[in-house]
Amino acid sequence: MKFFVQTFGCIQNTADSEKVRSYFLSNGDEEVKSWKEADTVIVNTCMVRQSAENRAYGLVRNSQKLKKKVIITGCLVGVIKKNYRKKAEVMKNFSGVDFWPIEKFEVDYEPIKKFNDTVLIPISYGCNNMCSYCIVPFARGPEISRNMEGILAEVDEAIKKGNKNILLIGQNVNSYGSDLQTCGYVHMGKKRFKSLFPELLKKVAEKDLEKVSFVSNNPWDFSDDLIEVIAEYKNIDRLIHLPFQAGDDEILKKMNRNYTKKEYLDLVERIKEKVKDVRFSTDIIIGFPGETDEKFEETVDICRQVNFEVAYLNKYSPRPGTVSEKLYKDDVPMKVKKERWVRLEEMINKR
Ligand code: SF4
Repeated sequence: MKFFVQTFGCIQNTADSEKVRSYFLSNGDEEVKSWKEADTVIVNTCMVRQSAENRAYGLVRNSQKLKKKVIITGCLVGVIKKNYRKKAEVMKNFSGVDFWPIEKFEVDYEPIKKFNDTVLIPISYGCNNMCSYCIVPFARGPEISRNMEGILAEVDEAIKKGNKNILLIGQNVNSYGSDLQTCGYVHMGKKRFKSLFPELLKKVAEKDLEKVSFVSNNPWDFSDDLIEVIAEYKNIDRLIHLPFQAGDDEILKKMNRNYTKKEYLDLVERIKEKVKDVRFSTDIIIGFPGETDEKFEETVDICRQVNFEVAYLNKYSPRPGTVSEKLYKDDVPMKVKKERWVRLEEMINKR
């Protein structure tokens, strides 16, 4: 059987697709370079943005027109498990398609998951944060951390095979291990549970590696212990991805992001103080409900102050079943979202 895997979305999906490939390869199937040559097309979906969802549906339709077997996996499968409205819509539009949860692609060994020359190592799955716009907690469930020994063994295996660059991945890497704790403490005004990420990062950085990177981070879990570890080990990537999403405090509150603009900027300053050569990248949502011109200027102001190297800019689109879809009207016109997008794109990514 000839198969083709198409991945949409984040680096987590890229890593999951390696499991899908290993699953079919270990069955003796042949991987081909284009969906048109395949008998079976596996679509690893992303639900974070409407545009990614639409592109996945386009591929499913085209594959079905050419009478190919289609398997949908990834975030859409997680979402339709819980959202009956979405399930009915998808089932009506795509009869004859198989829906496989990503766990179904298990193989009895851990494949080396690579992206360019970097090995991707998932350290946790899911997320506990419930940002109001985000579908990830519905699609992937609550955060579950892998055990540290298993992660370190996978790092050792990658090194043994000659790899020098490691990327630790999770929806929120710096809360890694907090689901294993019972005692909490207060950080940035909120009760949090101790993360084991600084300890894990230190253990990985002590190995024979040229570069250790990690994504994605949340400001409220970025502890002083973590900053100390980054400062101490020179092989830890100096480009830190620190999503802030919006600059206005009222919008941040509606997004259920647990920090203010000032707290975010203070954190950036604390990191800059300890890690002298640090650079930052970020994620920004443009046109969240209620984002007036004035509130958008707070976003622009953060960009000006932090001087990001790269920003991943997303125009807000309501996702099915999320709090923001239910509570807030998508009231910023697309024309305005596009203008704001162009402004940030020129300010950060096209300099
Ligand atoms: S931290 Fe927020 S934005 Fe990131 S995956 Fe979790 S809920 Fe989504």
